[in-house]
Amino acid sequence: MFCCCAAEETTMAEVASTAVLEEGNPFHQAAGEMDLDGWRDGGKILDGYEKPREEALKATEEKISFWKQLRVACWTMLGPTALCNVCLTALAFPRLVATGKSFPLLPGFKDFLLRFLAMELLGDFFLYVGHRILHEYLWDYHKYHHLIDTPTAVSTACIDGLDATVQAGIPTMGAAVLMQPHPLTFCAYAYARVAENVLNHCGMEHWLLNLVFLKFLPGRAGVANHDAHHRYSNYAKNAKNFGENFWLWDWAFGTLGHVGSTKKF
Ligand SMILES: [Zn+2]
Ligand SMILES: [Zn+2]
Repeated sequence: MFCCCAAEETTMAEVASTAVLEEGNPFHQAAGEMDLDGWRDGGKILDGYEKPREEALKATEEKISFWKQLRVACWTMLGPTALCNVCLTALAFPRLVATGKSFPLLPGFKDFLLRFLAMELLGDFFLYVGHRILHEYLWDYHKYHHLIDTPTAVSTACIDGLDATVQAGIPTMGAAVLMQPHPLTFCAYAYARVAENVLNHCGMEHWLLNLVFLKFLPGRAGVANHDAHHRYSNYAKNAKNFGENFWLWDWAFGTLGHVGSTKKF
């Protein structure tokens, strides 16, 4: 995976040095048409800094346009870093998870529920640790993702390959190695993890999304949590809100920041 970083860095550096606001951006158009009181009054679009979110989105896109974010996201998801990660995972997983064990066709309900929940908690802890290491020691890699101070769904994978490995690939695998889940339980966890990661970058709080993603449960972090991390923690040291799915780890280690729409840390 490390051999791919130079190419990745070139792409990201190109993105960082370009300040072109592209017209016709679908998110711009959508933002312009949005009812800022929320999606059919069932939720709210988070404010951006002390200004409306569509203005904050425009400012962000002056640094990295939507299309460049999309291009980097495609490179991250489909490029050499992703291929290296897939190959390493395919080689390592059978040796790390359930060696020699045979599974029933479907996992039992209780087994599924307990291991899924445990992987969510452990995976978010490993993400917390990886994300904090990226801020404290690997900021040169993580700063690319922080060029985006007002994220959208496509910003999720606008990230350096090493960054994605440290705060997504390794935590997901680490949780699976510890919990030894049924393969279908692992697939459900991996899908839920990616889906919630995208949700956390979308900038919208809505009761239906919170219901589907069980964000109403105790200890769970709302969309505003990671949105505030992008907004107010664009620096290496002493950042806040490293966890994504739970505020629990930030609370436990003293790094929980405000998530109010216009509050600064
Ligand atoms: Zn960060
Ligand atoms: Zn992010």
